[in-house]
Amino acid sequence: MFRTFDEARNFIRENQYRMIDLKFSDMWGNWHHVTIPASQFTEEMMRDGVGFDGSSVGLKSVKSGDMVLLPDLASGFVDPFCQFPTLSFICSAYEADTKRPFAFDPRNIVARAEEHLRATGIADGSIWGPEYEFYVFNDVSVENDVNVAAYRLDSVEGAWNAPTAGHGHLIPFHGGYHAIPPKDALANLRAEMCIELENLGVPVKYHHHEVGGPGQCEIETPLFDILKAGDATQIIKYVIKNVAQRNGQSATFMPKPLFGEAGSGMHFHQMLMKGGKNLFYDPKGYGCLSQEALWYIGGILKHGPALLAITNPSTNSYRRLIPGFEAPVNAFFSLGNRSAAIRVPKYADQPETARFEFRPPDATCNIYLALAAQLMAGIDGILNRIDPTANGFGPFDANIFSWTDEQRKAIKPLPASLKEACDALRDDHDFLLAGGVFDEAQIQDWIKHLMADFNAVNNRPTPYEVARYYDV
Ligand code: GLU
Ligand code: MG
Ligand code: MG
Repeated sequence: MFRTFDEARNFIRENQYRMIDLKFSDMWGNWHHVTIPASQFTEEMMRDGVGFDGSSVGLKSVKSGDMVLLPDLASGFVDPFCQFPTLSFICSAYEADTKRPFAFDPRNIVARAEEHLRATGIADGSIWGPEYEFYVFNDVSVENDVNVAAYRLDSVEGAWNAPTAGHGHLIPFHGGYHAIPPKDALANLRAEMCIELENLGVPVKYHHHEVGGPGQCEIETPLFDILKAGDATQIIKYVIKNVAQRNGQSATFMPKPLFGEAGSGMHFHQMLMKGGKNLFYDPKGYGCLSQEALWYIGGILKHGPALLAITNPSTNSYRRLIPGFEAPVNAFFSLGNRSAAIRVPKYADQPETARFEFRPPDATCNIYLALAAQLMAGIDGILNRIDPTANGFGPFDANIFSWTDEQRKAIKPLPASLKEACDALRDDHDFLLAGGVFDEAQIQDWIKHLMADFNAVNNRPTPYEVARYYDV
């Protein structure tokens, strides 16, 4: 939004903004914020930063948690959810003493990944399109609905989560795809979300009701460069949750909130740019993809199991990655196939559009780490010329869910649990360390945290287990 401090300060003065909100991401990708009065938005502040305790947000050990935030002036946006006029900036973390970029700040990791891409000479930059699927629940009933869902033993017919519940125009189980009002009772809510987003400088491609019904929504944006894709994702999640809240409802990006219903993914469309051209385009290639694109795909699929510990870092992630719900279970690529880990969209056959989407990720990822890690896997694929077709990764242009178990065994599975993903990352993370983009100690720390989560969930008796085994 701004190129210089003066531009930002003049904008604040002219428009009488009273508060400046500084937003930053913790290690898990959750935003935190600290707010200063506009009078504190000074050149000194831009030099010294605003202090915070990095250890409280998983960025640094308790011993040496002192860090500062510096606003990225280009990221400025007016926060529509504040009572008083507030200008917001997305920040990165810096060392308190040296003011050097803090190595483990998620945005700084993205910057290093992009630098590494350029240093290899492969491309000048990368372009990304994460997709946003989420459920909207009735605020008051969300806990009940989820509990009811957890208790259901067999049938999942019917709906329990509907903001529309109680009238005849109810979206049937699994039947929400592009539903129209009155069945789609969330159209206006999504429109409100999209208007807020466009006001904040985040363009929207479209919004619609998703398959899971009633209540599953999707908003898509055009593609962005890598840092903007990260920042836009943080803004989008913030806007979606806050607009829902403002309307007495509750939005969740949890990958699988309801047993038996479609899960919510965050597919990542991606392409590399060189000399102003899409490096992934070749009209003669499979799906109009170039050799570089295929190697990149080879890297993503080879490192797929390890990658999932970063793109799918919750126990709930693996409740979504099961057969029958348009979520992938196996590591292969394909044209227009939603059961594939990598889908090449059939419509993306032009020089500007040729690309693919990686479908396993979900919104529990730290968006910045997910972007950086996928890029690193793709770079590794290109550098090592990993041919996906020679490694059993397809292409398979069939719905593999209709295959026999025997047929499917030929394709490598994706991790079935957070533990399997952690094991894979423990064994395979050199591709992330290249160019100093990720750090060994950070990866070990990450795995430790994920395994603590895995055990915390796995060791707890669940409502369903109680229902299933109580009367033994
Ligand atoms: N909701 C599906 C998933 O969990 C994706 C549906 C789609 O292809 O848009 O990934
Ligand atoms: Mg979708
Ligand atoms: Mg998609």
